[in-house]
Amino acid sequence: AQLPNSLEARDTAFQLHSYANARRQEETGAMVIEKGEGIYVEDISGKRYIEGMAGLWSVAVGFGEKRLVDAATRQMEKLPYYHTFTYKTHGPSIELAEKLIEMAPVPMSKVYFTNSGSEANDTAIKLIWYRSNALGQPDRKKIISRVRGYHGVTIASASLTGLPNNHKSFDLPLPQVLHTTCPHYRTMKRDGESEADFARRCAVDLEDLILSEGPETIAAFFAEPVMGAGGVVVPPDGYWQAVQPVLKKYGILFVADEVICGFGRTGNMFGTQTYGLEPDMMTLSKALSSSYQPISALLINDAVYQTIADESDRIGVLGHGYTGSGHPVAAAVALENLKIIEERDLVGHVRNVAPVFQKRLAELGENPLVIETRGVGLIGAAELSHDALAQTPGALGARANAAFQEKGLISRAMLDAMAFCPPLIITENQINELFDIAEAGLKTVSDSLK
Ligand code: PLP
Repeated sequence: AQLPNSLEARDTAFQLHSYANARRQEETGAMVIEKGEGIYVEDISGKRYIEGMAGLWSVAVGFGEKRLVDAATRQMEKLPYYHTFTYKTHGPSIELAEKLIEMAPVPMSKVYFTNSGSEANDTAIKLIWYRSNALGQPDRKKIISRVRGYHGVTIASASLTGLPNNHKSFDLPLPQVLHTTCPHYRTMKRDGESEADFARRCAVDLEDLILSEGPETIAAFFAEPVMGAGGVVVPPDGYWQAVQPVLKKYGILFVADEVICGFGRTGNMFGTQTYGLEPDMMTLSKALSSSYQPISALLINDAVYQTIADESDRIGVLGHGYTGSGHPVAAAVALENLKIIEERDLVGHVRNVAPVFQKRLAELGENPLVIETRGVGLIGAAELSHDALAQTPGALGARANAAFQEKGLISRAMLDAMAFCPPLIITENQINELFDIAEAGLKTVSDSLK
């Protein structure tokens, strides 16, 4: 029950939540998180939880990192705001742009700052269309992404997203956006198809789509190295090796959405390195600032930059920009965050602890409710079998979520796939603590079904 005038009641009274059922929220209210330290957060009643999702796949260095607070304070005091419109700029945005170009896993030329992953992808689409016009190919505007891919919620990035809830009743996707096969072997394979054959067939499906639409109409392909919000889908071996030549063959730009994978999650600084990708553009956010400040970035290579520069010269101006692009406080926090990631060798740390994380994840699969586990580095999911128990999709996930929460673990149910994506600073002991709770939580759910 929500006590009158409690934070819960005022939340219900005044706030419309993302990804919630508004009517259900009116009844049950939401959980009020008050503070955080390391991998833990505490709710307003003082109950502590392992933040098994690092917030929204993003708080890489953990909660309560004083260095980020100090970096924000220093910048606030010096210059709390300035912009990067026209021919103005400021130190933090310059330093961060230089740092990202230096860190980029493939040669990149310029950074364009935005405030969210959605905006970074949206900006990428706009620049891709701008480029097609610059190249005298005004009909080359179609974009391909994948079923179950997640790229955000603005009109264009929600169109890229290949999940029904992001389209239903919003009149999306835009007609220029097409979706190709999701590389999830268990659900997408055909009878008798091996994993290697399936990986190759995904590339054939992509090529068939390109040919049926007309290659001269396809401008770009967007993909996450590992799908996150679509259910943690780790591509089968050989997938990227088969897909990338198709893009090259037809001169289609490849945009790697590194919003979740970027900055260590998969055991390399970028997912691009884990899977041998050669993107023309990359989008970054989340762990870029450990979400202490909203900031995102679009990296473009020199060939793309040159065309865009020519077009802005022809038109007179690049008619795009956000008030908050390259915000000095967000940029200063991101810079300090990247320093921490490097100084503490969090990528090396992920490689060291990932085997324990992946072993414990695989062991969750021994619970009869679990139909599949999948993961890489410090990201993973355990999918519960709703079919076997004649549950509606998402019902078991919601029960598992509640059971985990009751026992002190925040996970995320993507329908019936329980996701785990903790802060990168998590220790082996804490990984064991996380999975001990998940095992106990799943046991509670299995027992309740007997
Ligand atoms: N791209 C990926 C891979 C994401 O996971 C997300 C968010 O979860 C986005 C883009 C959108 O980012 P934002 O929520 O900051 O708009």
